[in-house]
Amino acid sequence: MTVRAQGAAEEPGAVAYTYAGLLAEARGLPNDRYLARIIASWLHGESVLPAWLGLTRPDYRALMARHFPRVGTPVPSPEPPTLSAALADEQGDVADLIRRYRRGDDRSELWLAPMVAAGCLGREHLWRDLGLTGRDELSALIAAAFPALQARNERDMKWKKFLYKCLCEDTGIYTCRAPSCDACSDFHDCFGPEV
Ligand code: SF4
Repeated sequence: MTVRAQGAAEEPGAVAYTYAGLLAEARGLPNDRYLARIIASWLHGESVLPAWLGLTRPDYRALMARHFPRVGTPVPSPEPPTLSAALADEQGDVADLIRRYRRGDDRSELWLAPMVAAGCLGREHLWRDLGLTGRDELSALIAAAFPALQARNERDMKWKKFLYKCLCEDTGIYTCRAPSCDACSDFHDCFGPEV
């Protein structure tokens, strides 16, 4: 996939940033490596993330300026669409949930929350929809940026299922069909390996 600079016409000479390329340009801040992975996958059409990674355009610019200051604001070509109002609402609810568990060490956590939430809108495992390499990398991201969320997932539930279950529990809306996970016929949908 060609990558072009934000707002510009196709730039044949534009650099198609890889994970390694982005990481080489990183400023050395917390969560650089997770951001680099997610952004590189998005630039190459290998994630479900919408326009601006699921951030606002100003937030995408701020993220790039802070973490990868010499990279500019590249976007995929063609540009992914923005979310519909209904999906944006859903993303906002999940992002609010994730944000409540942030470590509180670094501003990047505030950007990662809506990015992870936007990944929840895809149909695959969350790590795949975010363009990460596997569940281990997603769990490492969550441990780094949202450690209390990882602690809450004490049974190691699949991340997307877990986030929506938290949302249901926190709002008092219970959609699970069984009184407990152990008694549930959907157990294997919610737990087990994410490959
Ligand atoms: S295993 Fe069943 S009860 Fe537990 S979260 Fe999944 S659907 Fe809900």
